Amino acid sequence: MTTTLIRNVRPLHHDAADILIRDGVIAEIAIDIAAPEGATIIEGDGSLLFQGLIDGHTHMDKALIGLPWHSTKPTTTITEVIANERQLRREEHIDAHIQSTRHAHAAIASGTTHIRSFADIDTEWGLNGVRGLMQTRDEIKDKLHIQVVAFPQSGMLIRPGTVELLDQALSEGADVIGGLDPSAIDRDPKGHLDTIFALAEKHDVDIDIHLHEPGELGAFSFDLIIERTRVLGWKGRVTISHAFALGGVDHIRLGSLIEDLLDQEIAIMSHGPSGGRPAPPVEHLYNAGVRLISGNDGIQDSWGPLNRPEMLNRAYLVCYRNGFRRDDQIESVIDIITNKSAEVMGIEDYGFAVGNAADLAMIREENHCAAVVRRPMPWLVMKRGVITARDGVVV
Ligand SMILES: [Zn+2]
Repeated sequence: MTTTLIRNVRPLHHDAADILIRDGVIAEIAIDIAAPEGATIIEGDGSLLFQGLIDGHTHMDKALIGLPWHSTKPTTTITEVIANERQLRREEHIDAHIQSTRHAHAAIASGTTHIRSFADIDTEWGLNGVRGLMQTRDEIKDKLHIQVVAFPQSGMLIRPGTVELLDQALSEGADVIGGLDPSAIDRDPKGHLDTIFALAEKHDVDIDIHLHEPGELGAFSFDLIIERTRVLGWKGRVTISHAFALGGVDHIRLGSLIEDLLDQEIAIMSHGPSGGRPAPPVEHLYNAGVRLISGNDGIQDSWGPLNRPEMLNRAYLVCYRNGFRRDDQIESVIDIITNKSAEVMGIEDYGFAVGNAADLAMIREENHCAAVVRRPMPWLVMKRGVITARDGVVV
């Protein structure tokens, strides 16, 4: 049995405390815990304690971390961006295993303990991306939990053969099925969603759909997703990512969509900035009780160079995009990048409580809101009670 005692740390909404960890699990939280014999002692010295941060939406297979600067090409449509991406992959021989490993290390060093990552699947790239990412997932599982989403980034029905590849990826161990703009990309919303839901049912996996479609077109896609979630009994197992439509419909339409999202426990992923488009109203959704998740999206890939792998940086951007200033608003985003995202990903042993996994990050800052604004790296990160990173470096 391994025993670790962390002394004097400050969890959010909690007095300074000691934490006793036994075999990777939080065994006790109290003031002045006596050190058990043989325990490893970590002096927190009044550090902030964060629960392991969760990046609930990223693209580890195609991050260009560690490669020379990539200048983003000018484009006018999303289809052009996707075509550029396939070209880059072809010409630069991007290796999904190497890139996702680099991404994983950057995430761990910044306090992330769980990731949901999409992996592109198309008829040109085949299963290279998803297999490379699954290899990383399996190799690094003691340091970082990765959920792999089989994702038809180039469209599905418009590229015959893609559905079979998605099916194969799920058979080989992908954890979640992804969808993409059923009207705007495939131009067949019924066909696209029926196929995605059928694959989910066949492999008993959750669904996560990128929905960039704006306004009423996007809201119509919401209706179709809600209807299928209800009919198939997939309540609590569907996420709509980006969901820009929620920022582009009037309050009556928004109100009825929120009722349906609550009824079917459908989650919304918002990562803050929205490329000049309306974005989901995070405070409104949070207060209404809609399930929320956030993430960094693609890190330094052919879509653009600005995203970073650090989740505190993402929390800052979500706050900034939504005009958050008050402590309670900033703390709501900390809740989203920890507890709320864990619920959406179905992580059962997550949370700062006795009996849960000791997935923790320690940061030297004044308080948790200041940490979101100043964004220091954690000086210590733990996965299941084992130190995974120290002072920004994976150990
Ligand atoms: Zn994405």
